[in-house]
Amino acid sequence: MKKLLLALITVSLFASGCTFINKKQADTKPYLVVLSLDGFRWDYPQTYNTPVLDSLQKAGVFAEMIPSFPSKTFPNHYTLATGLYPDHHGIVMNSFYDPTTKRSYSVSDRKAVRDGSFYGGEPIWNTATKQGVRNAILFWVGSEANIQNMHPEKWYRYNQKLPFTSRIDSVYDWLSLPAKVRPHLIMWYYPEPDGTGHHFGPHSPETKQMVEQLDSWLGQFFTAMRRLPNFKNINFIITSDHGMQTLSPERNIIIDKYIDTADLSHITGNNPIYNLGVKPGKLEKVYAALKKVHHLQVWKHDSLPERLHYGQNPRTLDLTLVADPGWSLYWSWAVGTEKGTHGYDNADRDMHAIFYAAGPAFKKDYHAPTFRNVDVYPLMAKILNLKPAPNDGSLKEVQNMLKK
Ligand code: AMP
Ligand code: ZN
Ligand code: ZN
Repeated sequence: MKKLLLALITVSLFASGCTFINKKQADTKPYLVVLSLDGFRWDYPQTYNTPVLDSLQKAGVFAEMIPSFPSKTFPNHYTLATGLYPDHHGIVMNSFYDPTTKRSYSVSDRKAVRDGSFYGGEPIWNTATKQGVRNAILFWVGSEANIQNMHPEKWYRYNQKLPFTSRIDSVYDWLSLPAKVRPHLIMWYYPEPDGTGHHFGPHSPETKQMVEQLDSWLGQFFTAMRRLPNFKNINFIITSDHGMQTLSPERNIIIDKYIDTADLSHITGNNPIYNLGVKPGKLEKVYAALKKVHHLQVWKHDSLPERLHYGQNPRTLDLTLVADPGWSLYWSWAVGTEKGTHGYDNADRDMHAIFYAAGPAFKKDYHAPTFRNVDVYPLMAKILNLKPAPNDGSLKEVQNMLKK
């Protein structure tokens, strides 16, 4: 019965729209609409009731996606946009200190977030603008900044409170613009289920409710999309930046119980990962003390395992600390009470993200092999017929998702 229902939803989501197509209006240049749902763990659809995502998988592609390290929001959204590892694009954490320019960056510092000089690489919206592809970007990390002295063609000041349905309206309105001015690349963002996941944990009734609410909003989104005359030309990607791990107060590590904070020059990051600046002559002392702490990984600058692609950028400072999955890393003056978090080693499967895609470029009912999020940039470029800027991803890793 569930199968039959799924088949019906699939048909209604991705086929009935064809009846609305006015051949004269349909245009054949590709469209790509990318949505990121912050903190949508790869396996939520296996745990919770998500008929719309299930139908999207039937109509297109699903894969488990590996975030870049650290599995935090800003580094990963900007990796999705550029195809570069955080070490290479420079947004190495949600907050960081740049020892070269002596300037700090933080997600809550609106001026820093809008300052393009912090952002390296070329976001896909710049690649698009440079090659004549119109774009509209709603709240994606980096979209408010003047990167390479350019802004996305349409961009907006971040407003966390803008309802999901208003965001749907924006996407619908852009895709309803006259063909001449209509964007072909749209990227939009919603901050859930991350917020609820932090507050209540990934396995809570509240997170279940939020995930199911998001799925129902996605149903509204596709209903709106189906009304567009050019629906059949649009490729959709629904993805996320990272997953969510369950925390417990029995698994707290208080860092300053083990080291003298007077030896530190900078503390950047938040639970469960930090980059520390250490005062001259104190590095060995601090490192040796932290090495002894159970359930904590600590690395000196430029000595992280290669698979993490992290720790060479000067903004990662002298030491990188990350707790083992499920453990929290706090300071005695700021012990948190959140029930979920992310930022752990990206080998932890609970950090993995979703990747759904459907539309004319994609195979149908295809479960793709797990891949890294650096590959999304070359994939987006391919779909839009753009020549990609240099990046750390590889189209070869994701080409299997595309129709021949
Ligand atoms: P975190 O869970 O700490 O890694 O970050 C998630 C938070 O990042 C969200 O709840 C938003 O408040 C914030 N955020 C995401 N995108 C943006 C943006 N473009 N501008 C400002 N804040 C953002
Ligand atoms: Zn996030
Ligand atoms: Zn978060």
